[in-house]
Amino acid sequence: MHFGGIYEDETVGKVYDRRLMGRFVAYILPYRRMLVTALLLLPLIAASKLAQPWIIKVAIDDHIVKGRMEGLPTLAAAFLAIIFAESILMFAQVYLLQWVGQRVMYDIRVKLFSHIQRLSTRFFDQTPVGSLVSRLTSDIEVLGEMFAAGIVTVVGDILVLAGIVGIMLWMNVRLSLVTFSVLPVLIWVAFAFRKWMRLAFRQVRARQANLSAFLAESIGGMAVVQLFNRERDEAKEFRRLNASYVEANFPVITWDAALYAVVESLSSVAVALIIWYGGGEIVKGTLSFGSLVAFIQYIEKFFSPIRDLSAKYSIMQGAMASLERIFALLDNNDREPEPVPSPEAAAGTVRTDSRLTQAPPPPEGEGRGGGSTDSLWSSPLPASPLRGEELRTRVQACQGSPEHALQNICFNDIWFAYKDRDYVLKGFSLQMRRGEKVALVGETGGGKTTVTRLLSRLYDVERGSITIDGTDIRELPLPALRKRIGVVLQDPYLFSGTIAYNISLGDPEALKRVEQAAAVVGADRFIRELPKGYDEEVRERGVNFSAGERQLISFARAVAFDPEILVLDEATASVDTASERLIQQGLEGLMQGRTTLVVAHRLSTIRDADRIVVIHHGEKAEEGTHAELMAAQGLYYRLYQLQFKD
Ligand code: ADP
Ligand code: MG
Repeated sequence: MHFGGIYEDETVGKVYDRRLMGRFVAYILPYRRMLVTALLLLPLIAASKLAQPWIIKVAIDDHIVKGRMEGLPTLAAAFLAIIFAESILMFAQVYLLQWVGQRVMYDIRVKLFSHIQRLSTRFFDQTPVGSLVSRLTSDIEVLGEMFAAGIVTVVGDILVLAGIVGIMLWMNVRLSLVTFSVLPVLIWVAFAFRKWMRLAFRQVRARQANLSAFLAESIGGMAVVQLFNRERDEAKEFRRLNASYVEANFPVITWDAALYAVVESLSSVAVALIIWYGGGEIVKGTLSFGSLVAFIQYIEKFFSPIRDLSAKYSIMQGAMASLERIFALLDNNDREPEPVPSPEAAAGTVRTDSRLTQAPPPPEGEGRGGGSTDSLWSSPLPASPLRGEELRTRVQACQGSPEHALQNICFNDIWFAYKDRDYVLKGFSLQMRRGEKVALVGETGGGKTTVTRLLSRLYDVERGSITIDGTDIRELPLPALRKRIGVVLQDPYLFSGTIAYNISLGDPEALKRVEQAAAVVGADRFIRELPKGYDEEVRERGVNFSAGERQLISFARAVAFDPEILVLDEATASVDTASERLIQQGLEGLMQGRTTLVVAHRLSTIRDADRIVVIHHGEKAEEGTHAELMAAQGLYYRLYQLQFKD
């Protein structure tokens, strides 16, 4: 099912540590106070670490070796006090860092989510949902680990290391130099595989995203998988992706383990050197016994942050790989379209904005719903504010005679192709008058759905233009355009939440109209029979409702938003013939007083349309009323014959 490498997204950005860190710092900056507080604790913690072996040395050299009991209890108490203070400081530091980390993660998640919300339909056509989810979850989680592991405390580690080197040199220069002879090897090892590590981590993050993308799709489509007995193949594909994820982890694990082993054995070598060389110094009388013990203690304290450093380093590399993926998504500017001012609009000759944001009062007798008193329709229908000369010039773009002044929607010779595909629409034109019902019919794949998508600007036309009341839709702000158009999708999408929520989608204005809207489309009958009525819970994607019921809810949604233009894409396709009558009535309520573009598969549902347009291979093949097209005995006639053979 998933072969062909859809889940092989291993495209990741280039290596740019410094820029990555620089950008990341911008997210930390708001919490700098907390961070600085945590950093101020570091010297204190470092001092306490350095003091401990020193107390032991003093105890041995000044008291134990000399057989002096007095002073030992004080030293022991001081030792305890220092360790106690250190643990409190450590607690405060860990808490502060995690606090900052959680907030930074929160901010990045919010930023990513709102960025994703603004991306274009094209982007979502190409990006698996699961891989986006993994960026919002696991990739960000890895950033959190960076705070949990205390990357910032590296500063503290460096303080401790420098302190230890200083104290050791001060105690005994020669012994220090002998001990530190292992350092060059250590440094070489630490930097040896740097780049390689980053590559390994990238691979891990990318394959993890592949895994989540696969899971999201496979679990989402579980019914199909089970019904077609595809479990075994799905499991096989999952094993493959799972194995490739695990495999990607091995270089990381190898490096981690190797580094640990190397650091561990180097520290043993250092201790061995101290015993061998330091022991000799004691015998010669040039080193005290306490100093030797302190040396061994310091060496242990010296190597433990280095061991941690390797763990921190690998977390850091993981975080870098995640940051790359997060910023790559944030840098994706395949945004939803912004309004593009036309040359005229830019020159200030046409005012395109005001007519959409504030609708002027309708001319006499043009009120929606034929002047009915139904309060649902009391909002005025915005009329074209263009008059006279201005109108005529604008309308010329909308092919045909000046009579097109009344045109509500015009598709002017539009051309469109999905990415890397052949043209789906090839010079398609269509004019719709205010309040007119136009039906779009034709073979599957002819481009009907595409026409509706272009009208609401899910995609933009490549050539030609679409105008509403003479204004190119590309000049309109998207929210204003979409407020005017109500779309009932081919596949109604319900969210988890109540029925009322699904009709209003939480919009306060729409919420007030929920019950009226349901009544208009005849959805109220089945909703009232539900145990909780409008408060009945809809589960994810509306699985607990029939296709017809879901469709009625989506009709009600369209009415509740009270659009001026209505687009119905195969809205009755998923409905059985028994409920069709009901739906048909609902549809009439829905279309009442609105300019409507209906895409219909079932030709019986569109016989009453004012006009029928047949679209064939992306071009308009026929146009007319049902009677005219039947008389012409062309494509429509044949489609009709096919459907009603019996
Ligand atoms: P209709 O609604 O008339 O059945 P569509 O407008 O949905 O046809 O599709 C027209 C053509 O565009 C089809 O050949 C289809 O494969 C292609 N198509 C539709 N949506 C996409 C998409 N998101 N990406 C690429 N091609 C698409
Ligand atoms: Mg379609």
